[in-house]
Amino acid sequence: MSKIQKDEIVIAIKNLLKALRIDELQEFASTPELVSEFYSGFLAFLHEPPLDLPLYPVTNAHLENIVLRKIPFYSLCSHHLLPFFGTVSIVYRPDKDCVLGFSGIVRIVRYFSQRPTIQEVLANKIADDILHRIGNNTLIYIEINARQLCVEMRGVRVGGMDIFCSTSRNASSDWIQLAKATLATV
Ligand SMILES: [Zn+2]
Repeated sequence: MSKIQKDEIVIAIKNLLKALRIDELQEFASTPELVSEFYSGFLAFLHEPPLDLPLYPVTNAHLENIVLRKIPFYSLCSHHLLPFFGTVSIVYRPDKDCVLGFSGIVRIVRYFSQRPTIQEVLANKIADDILHRIGNNTLIYIEINARQLCVEMRGVRVGGMDIFCSTSRNASSDWIQLAKATLATV
């Protein structure tokens, strides 16, 4: 599996600075290396295999909804490589006698957000990954609130706007309403 080539990023940023006619200015002398360091670190999950996360057994008879509200994330839009960032909230009820650890779910959010993507795809990737791990009949509702610098710095240039999207799996409209109400009151 190919890995991120840090030296190629350095060359690419040197070329970008050259194209911008600022490559010979002293203040940009270390920029190619610093940018390469950032991208190779932030996007390190890109070519990593799926996360190996433990499951924890529970007594299903007493298991109600599990709620993780406002997990922070940072990502890059896949069209302009501009940041979008915000929070992911998750409500789920597993169909097996096991759950993911809370830190495991945070790691899933990080794994799928720290790559070029779009908000709607991110929500679906997280939902499908959780389902895959804890049972395909799991009820799940996910919402993502984000600021999109792609919208704020370019295009229509509307600043400070929250963009919301949600997705669900196996959930009735009644259960989704319950999940939304739970998130609103936690
Ligand atoms: Zn964009």
